[in-house]
Amino acid sequence: MRVRAPVLVLSVLLCHFAAVAQLPIAAPSIFIKAGKPLDVTKGSYIDNAGIWIEGDRIKEIGRAPDIQSHVPKNAQVIDLGRATVLPGLIDCHTHLMARVPDTPDGYTLNLATKSQAFRALEGAFDARITLNAGFTAVRDVESEGSGYADVALRDAINQGLAEGPRMLVATRGIAAVGQYEPFGVSPDLTDFPTGAQMVSGVEEARRAVREQIGHGADLIKVYADWQYPTLTVEEIRVIVEEAHRQGLKVAAHATTPEGIRNAVTAGVDSIEHGHRADRQDLELMKAKGTFLVPTVGVIDALVEKSKNEQLSPEQIKARDAFLQGVQRVIQQAMSLGVKIASGFDASSPDRQGKNANELLALTKRGMPPLDAIRAATMNAAELLGWQNRVGTLEPGKYADLIAVEGDPLVDITVLQHVKFVMKGGAVVKNTFSP
Ligand SMILES: [Zn+2]
Repeated sequence: MRVRAPVLVLSVLLCHFAAVAQLPIAAPSIFIKAGKPLDVTKGSYIDNAGIWIEGDRIKEIGRAPDIQSHVPKNAQVIDLGRATVLPGLIDCHTHLMARVPDTPDGYTLNLATKSQAFRALEGAFDARITLNAGFTAVRDVESEGSGYADVALRDAINQGLAEGPRMLVATRGIAAVGQYEPFGVSPDLTDFPTGAQMVSGVEEARRAVREQIGHGADLIKVYADWQYPTLTVEEIRVIVEEAHRQGLKVAAHATTPEGIRNAVTAGVDSIEHGHRADRQDLELMKAKGTFLVPTVGVIDALVEKSKNEQLSPEQIKARDAFLQGVQRVIQQAMSLGVKIASGFDASSPDRQGKNANELLALTKRGMPPLDAIRAATMNAAELLGWQNRVGTLEPGKYADLIAVEGDPLVDITVLQHVKFVMKGGAVVKNTFSP
């Protein structure tokens, strides 16, 4: 070890030098005439506001005349007129590497016909349209069989090689052997890629976490069930223990009452979907501070898509019962005070970039528009562990902000038509000015 130490020191110094050498020249000061920004914490608008941005951070926000009196004289001025300004939106459940057709064999074909290199390029496209839709940060909850392509995409975005939101990535995901996509592949095809890293037993679970962290994971994703409970509480507990030890959070796919209970008992940080959660699950989540990411927008998209299909009376009955159940879960979670964060779960070409549909879907289930916006800003930032960086318009935070025409507290659908996007002080999109 003593022999290796100088080599390590040298490589750290070289890395540091490389990082410094790549830094862009400090961005100029920017003064945004911000119309009316939404203070998501208070739930009210600031009138005649201005935002002063230095480099990639917000320096000051308040009344425009006060701020304009002391911004640097050479500051670039961006006038957003009467637009409504909000913090950049955050999607807590993306799969940017997934452009999977909605067909019964779509997932398998996607794995069989695309290289991981191609999947990464698809991810780059999805990252760009997601950012342009106003989502300046995402938590990407597993790469769906594209290996570590999400790490590559995150790093490319951070280095300015690709355009996209800030990303937290889960890499491969962890599921019980045989209990996740693809299903129905011939057992003779032993090297056929899988949608997640398949494990059996606590030591394999532990190894998978260590491996994924070693290859660049920012969080760990586990499948606690797949229609039925799969991983045991002991397996999930080891996963949580390994991840938490290194400061990473754990997101658990869980839809069944028992799967949810297993995951929450094991100490995961969020339940993804939770569609069949019972009251006991939700009370446990409230007690332990576990987030719920309900992913209801994707349900609405699939119901809409199935409108042209011929369904039997039994199928219609089952679908309606499921939809009522999901609505009950969200309302019960709200009334119990379970923390809710927004995630759209897009995984097909026609849903990528439509992340704001989730906010609409949440309000359709009775969530007030302000709470839906909080689910995609301050609550989401807390789930990411980035509450000191993003999620609200405050001094010191990244200058990640969006602007829309109209009032999202009255009509949430205006967030489906974001007209201005800024990430880290750089204008990504501005369709206000000619
Ligand atoms: Zn998902």
